[in-house]
Amino acid sequence: MMHTIKFALTFVFQILLVYALSNRVAIADEVSDLSSYQVQEITSGNYVHVGNFPPQDTHNHGDVANIGFIVGSKCVAVIDTGSSIQVGSLLKDAIHKVTSLPICVVVITHVHPDHLLGLNAFAEDLTVTVYGHHRLPKQIRKRSKYYLEMLQRDLAVEDIGSHAIDPSRITTVDSFLTIDLGDRVIEIQAWDYAHTDHDVTVTDVSTGTFWAGDLVFSKHVPILDSNARQYDQVLKKLQSLDVKHYVVGHGPLDRPWRDLVTEQRRYLDVLMSGVRTAIDTGVSLMDAVNTVGWDEHDRWLNFELYHRRNVTTTYTDLEWED
Ligand SMILES: [Zn+2]
Repeated sequence: MMHTIKFALTFVFQILLVYALSNRVAIADEVSDLSSYQVQEITSGNYVHVGNFPPQDTHNHGDVANIGFIVGSKCVAVIDTGSSIQVGSLLKDAIHKVTSLPICVVVITHVHPDHLLGLNAFAEDLTVTVYGHHRLPKQIRKRSKYYLEMLQRDLAVEDIGSHAIDPSRITTVDSFLTIDLGDRVIEIQAWDYAHTDHDVTVTDVSTGTFWAGDLVFSKHVPILDSNARQYDQVLKKLQSLDVKHYVVGHGPLDRPWRDLVTEQRRYLDVLMSGVRTAIDTGVSLMDAVNTVGWDEHDRWLNFELYHRRNVTTTYTDLEWED
């Protein structure tokens, strides 16, 4: 019975998550920011497009994630592809302005639509290898329908069929993979449960630039699409890394790495300890979402959009803790 309730809560949570992620790319009318699409070279050969921030902008067409590319002497690796083919194509155009070298690799850091749904701007070229976590294809199958409906509803994209992602197009990474782009080696690392259950990161070895995907947020409230306990264990490892240059999935890139990770761990600690106290004292989930962790409100952007769901996820996880 308890497992049935837990399953039901998990299901409800997933529906809420899909809904909230769709709100996150709550978009757009006829006006566009895309005409000013820009990339910046943050370290030698590492180019980043900084997504619109904060994401609630009604004119951003879902262009909210930090995405980009790494240029070797033979070819180019793309890291995440944006929210639609339109946004992915803008990244592709930006690459062609920087180099005439071919794109050989696309890495999808995780399934969320603002990182994934531009993939078909690149994936039709079968010489491009698309890499993702070994659990990514399953998540694509599971979420595609919702994400495509969201694309139509919130981004007013008519031709959603062209955005359908073929899960078999993903070359999966079990743990660790190195790829030579020509005089430049990149490392793809598959992580355990963290932001999602299928995050990968990319390191450009020659510059030490760490592409964190959504494992780490900058100013933006962390989002839990997995569980807080395991996420914190991953963050503990990330905190010990000597990262000088990084790209996080959302937010500015100018603050010390350790500060970002430390703040995020503190938030998760507040979340977990508050939820444990709520459970121990008989506070219901419905009350907990409006009380636990609200002292954090002014420290993070988009707090109201995601915090309640972070509490829900953590509550449904921890209430079965021994
Ligand atoms: Zn994400």
